[in-house]
Amino acid sequence: MKPIIAGNWKMNKTIDESILFLESIKNVIPDDDKSTTILCPPFTSLFAVSKLLKNSNLSLGAQNVHYKTKGAFTGEVSIDMLISTFVEYVILGHSERRKLFGESNSFIKEKVSAVVNAGLTPILCVGEEIDDRLSDKTQLVLKRQIESAISRKKIINKENFIIAYEPIWAIGTGETATTDQVEDAHTFIKLVLKNIFGNNGQNIPIIYGGSVHVDNAKSLILANDVDGFLIGGASLDSESFCEIIEIVSENYSRG
Ligand code: PEP
Repeated sequence: MKPIIAGNWKMNKTIDESILFLESIKNVIPDDDKSTTILCPPFTSLFAVSKLLKNSNLSLGAQNVHYKTKGAFTGEVSIDMLISTFVEYVILGHSERRKLFGESNSFIKEKVSAVVNAGLTPILCVGEEIDDRLSDKTQLVLKRQIESAISRKKIINKENFIIAYEPIWAIGTGETATTDQVEDAHTFIKLVLKNIFGNNGQNIPIIYGGSVHVDNAKSLILANDVDGFLIGGASLDSESFCEIIEIVSENYSRG
């Protein structure tokens, strides 16, 4: 399996700024196919970025989508609209969507289902609040988020599904989970996936997100069951993003 590094730009970068970013990484990013690198710009930059990604090793992801195909959903974007900009991956259930925009597990389940049906790959984000962790409810929260987002009837495997473990207290805070905490969570998520999907579930990649930066990338990618990163802040800076890709490519070693 190749490691996965996804950059979540959130609500950052205009079209011009996105193009500048792409130009600055074009000659620096390793062209060796050792990792799957996914850029997730805001909707407005998707098409411009997709044109620059042609004939490169980089893939395009979106930060959200609506599960309905069309209709009266002001401000929303459909899966076909994403496909028309050559998107392959979609971040779903990000904690900012859950917390700031009230997305429920059942709403996320509809999206996961529609994205898988359309042949795109969801990056399903799960993670606990600090209070959950302090009251020993991390596993309960992770299990609930995963089980309620995935239909057992769906054919889900390592080719069409990615889980991002993102402890909410570590997102954008500069506070990173320890490698022990990350390993525990990833091992538990693997078990939950195995219980749902059997062997198919066991190989689904699990990436970590939460204040990943150049200085902690090596120890985190060496942790058990960590198959890559979902990166917010550090993905906005071309130098640190490229450096993290290099660290991951050099240090990831799972079959
Ligand atoms: C994220 O938003 O998914 C994230 C992990 O952000 P950051 O890297 O800034 O913590």
